[in-house]
Amino acid sequence: MNPKSFDVVVVGAGNAGLCAALAAREGGARVLVLEAAPETERGGNSRFTAGAMRVVYRGIDDLRELIPDLTDADIARTDFGAYTESDFLDDMGRITEYRSDPDLVELLVRRSFDTLRWMKSKGVRFAPMYGRQAFKVGDRMRFWGGLTVEAWGGGPGLIDLLMQAIGRERIEIWYGARALRLIADDTGVHGVVVRRERSAIDVTAAAVVLASGGFEANAEWRARYLGPGWDLAKVRGTRFNTGGGIAMALEIGASPYGNWSGCHAVGWDRNAPEFGDLAVGDGYQKHSYPFGIMVNAAGKRFVDEGADFRNYTYAKYGRVILAQPQQFAWQIFDSKVAHLLRDEYRIKQVTKVRADTLEALAAKLDDVDGPALLREIAAFNAAVRKDIAFDPTVRDGRCTQGLAVDKSNWANTLDAPPFDAYAVTCGITFTFGGLRIDTGGRVQSVDGEPVARLYAAGELVGGLFYFNYPGGTGLTSGAVFGRIAGTSAARQALESSKAHAR
Ligand SMILES: Cc1cc2nc3c(=O)[nH]c(=O)nc-3n(C[C@H](O)[C@H](O)[C@H](O)COP(=O)(O)OP(=O)(O)OC[C@H]3O[C@@H](n4cnc5c(N)ncnc54)[C@H](O)[C@@H]3O)c2cc1C
Repeated sequence: MNPKSFDVVVVGAGNAGLCAALAAREGGARVLVLEAAPETERGGNSRFTAGAMRVVYRGIDDLRELIPDLTDADIARTDFGAYTESDFLDDMGRITEYRSDPDLVELLVRRSFDTLRWMKSKGVRFAPMYGRQAFKVGDRMRFWGGLTVEAWGGGPGLIDLLMQAIGRERIEIWYGARALRLIADDTGVHGVVVRRERSAIDVTAAAVVLASGGFEANAEWRARYLGPGWDLAKVRGTRFNTGGGIAMALEIGASPYGNWSGCHAVGWDRNAPEFGDLAVGDGYQKHSYPFGIMVNAAGKRFVDEGADFRNYTYAKYGRVILAQPQQFAWQIFDSKVAHLLRDEYRIKQVTKVRADTLEALAAKLDDVDGPALLREIAAFNAAVRKDIAFDPTVRDGRCTQGLAVDKSNWANTLDAPPFDAYAVTCGITFTFGGLRIDTGGRVQSVDGEPVARLYAAGELVGGLFYFNYPGGTGLTSGAVFGRIAGTSAARQALESSKAHAR
């Protein structure tokens, strides 16, 4: 066989692309994966993650199937609860304001458990996400946010184990190989033009799967589609997701779909680098704001930090921070909640100040109107409903009353020194707009027909997320739609080869 000809070419070696490649191989296809990054930076955004995966489980028996090494001691000390299909469907509906594509959401939800089980069959391992998704209540651990499972070893572990599976299946990967454009004519797609070792080469294929991420790492596209100011956001993950896969599909008539002006963006260390740092992973994020307050340069609170559990607000609050003067905020906590702060607050690369009085703290916060901040905290403390008990494992209703911006849950007075403050800006995770696919992973054209032999999965699929996002859904979506796209692409390739043989 011509070495530059494959049954299926997958563009992008993140979680979605690797799942697509494994599924295509399982379907009997000869597969090539193209990856723009060098091997040292492999894994895309997926490698930067904590590996959190939102999955339907009916109870402990389902969890045991995904996590066979769950011990009896863990089970005895933990309230895992359940996360049903209707919980997941409701979360997707509520969080996206009922905009998301019902067919795609249904697939995502209903295939989630089976897809993780399939990943496990390929060698991926899972663990309960105690560190970030459970709190101790009395002598028991309680999961609170519908997000119980993480890939073993987080994002790096997920990518390593998927890569081991790719190796076992003898799937070829070219690193430093950027797909430039699709080879296509009126009858559909026939391959990809790839830049590798400084020259462009044609790779032909019976089917192509695009899994090359969104356009979050492209400052020009961010300003163009997300709006003014988005060029100033920091990129949380890979520098390689610049919208190339989306552009090459649109160029041959694919339909744009979804929330093109929307994205997932969070509070991220104000002094973090322009792109993600693999040594730090997701550590620049600062996600414990529900237990403190956030203030801007004017010393004012600007958002309801306790509107909902962190899993349901963090992805939209980056946008709110970006809209503040000078695009920053300080998160402030007192010692009463210090034990609740996530691991990322204790990394070395953190922009943090500490003081024993609020006056001393206010004087130390860069770029903040100190006197205004002290007035804001005094008003906040006076407005806290101290008669309602604080409980981080439920929406406790411990709110403030009468403020311009009230806090709905987990409101505590700031009065127990030492006081800690952390400076954040907006970190963009991934973009929501992308390509339109059908339930077989086939990319749809602007005319409403499938683009023959073109499939897509992962971040560059539009129509799933609007305005906001329930934590842990990106990896599950990449896996579910990657597997679907890979399976369909292999089927297409085998049909094509049968047709040639006839
Ligand atoms: C810091 C951080 C933490 C996160 N935490 C979580 C979490 O815990 N749980 C969760 O579900 N989601 C999380 N996410 C979101 C999650 O990373 C994404 O939803 C998911 O990884 C997307 O997978 P993907 O395969 O579509 O894209 P990616 O993993 O980004 O893979 C895309 C690949 O395509 C390559 N590529 C791009 N252009 C080209 C081209 N032209 N040719 C060839 N290759 C190309 C890129 O180099 C990249 O390797 C997090 C994201 C970040 C940045």
